[in-house]
Amino acid sequence: MDFETRAIHDGQEPDPATGAVITPIYQTSTYVQEGVGKNKGYDYSRSGNPTRTALETCLASLESADHGLAFSSGLGATTTIMHLVSPGERVVCVNDVYGGVYRMFSQVYEPKGYEFTFLSAQEIGEGLVDHLDSKTRIVWLESPTNPLLNVIDIAAAAEAAHSVGALVVVDNTFATPYLQRPLELGADIVVHSTTKYLGGHSDVIGGFAATNDPTIAERLRFLQKSLGAVPGPFDAWLVLRGVKTLAVRMRQHCENAQQIAAFLSEHDAVERVFYPGLPDHPGHHIAARQMADFGGMISFLAASEEAAIRLVAETKVWQLAESLGGVESLIEQPAQMTHASTANAPFAVPPNLVRLSVGIESADDLVADLEHALATIVASPS
Ligand SMILES: *Cc1c(COP(=O)(O)O)cnc(C)c1O
Repeated sequence: MDFETRAIHDGQEPDPATGAVITPIYQTSTYVQEGVGKNKGYDYSRSGNPTRTALETCLASLESADHGLAFSSGLGATTTIMHLVSPGERVVCVNDVYGGVYRMFSQVYEPKGYEFTFLSAQEIGEGLVDHLDSKTRIVWLESPTNPLLNVIDIAAAAEAAHSVGALVVVDNTFATPYLQRPLELGADIVVHSTTKYLGGHSDVIGGFAATNDPTIAERLRFLQKSLGAVPGPFDAWLVLRGVKTLAVRMRQHCENAQQIAAFLSEHDAVERVFYPGLPDHPGHHIAARQMADFGGMISFLAASEEAAIRLVAETKVWQLAESLGGVESLIEQPAQMTHASTANAPFAVPPNLVRLSVGIESADDLVADLEHALATIVASPS
């Protein structure tokens, strides 16, 4: 069945006890057992919960995966996957990775003796295999990246990683499975912050991972239970509800973003626009091949750091906040907000960078608000 249908129905059969159309929130920690070892498939909610199972089944289906696991946050999923790696082994990671993932890798795992190599999207594109060795356990990718919207050829990266026996993990938070399915392109694990587009309404923190490899799935299931970064039933339910409208939301996010990127790229006060849907974006052709559309995230360079900081405070419809992927439009300055943890890295983001999470309000209202804010700054340079 098609994506839209699976988003609404997979894992979500009417409740067998009552006929409730919507999966109940099974707000319980434990389950009565008929006898020792005799239960209905659930014994304790860290190990399993029916609301969480519904979410795991649905999201696995959307990612073309046989196995799905829900987590308490995107970073909860990330740290659980990091337990597939041992000290002394290496993770090769794209360098404009989500700031919190960079912080975890560089400030939690690196001091414990895990090795990391951070590569630019360009270095990965030009020859990932040259940077891999027999110690490399994971190649960690995002595409498009956060916040510079670089695009990585996932199929080519997977081929290089597999040649040294490394696993490919793709953080698919920006694209969502509606636009891109990394497992179909050769990745071994796909990971999400469901806090973003999958939840879609800025009202929950959650994470998810999926794989087609039964051995990896079994280990991740063990780690999920043993490390304990699981979502509560209400959080699982919120993501499940959000996912029902993922397809229609993503279509509108993409349509609005294309219009806003076109407006920004014509504007004199904007130095450069990063959006894979623009034909002059260096990753445009790869994105067109591996994505169904170009997504709802845009970054651009304002004239100066000061202009960027004033602009993000000037907009009215665009709200100044971290996070992304909700129905409402958000604006932020990554250097001091979402990506402050990369400030001392060689690949710190430019201080005049502005990041937009394009919502599904009227695109005309969104353009008018940006136009007004940009004009205010140009009219009164300080
Ligand atoms: C937000 C985000 C994360 C972290 O997810 P949390 O749910 O905040 O823990 C990881 N990767 C990307 C790309 C993100 O945007």
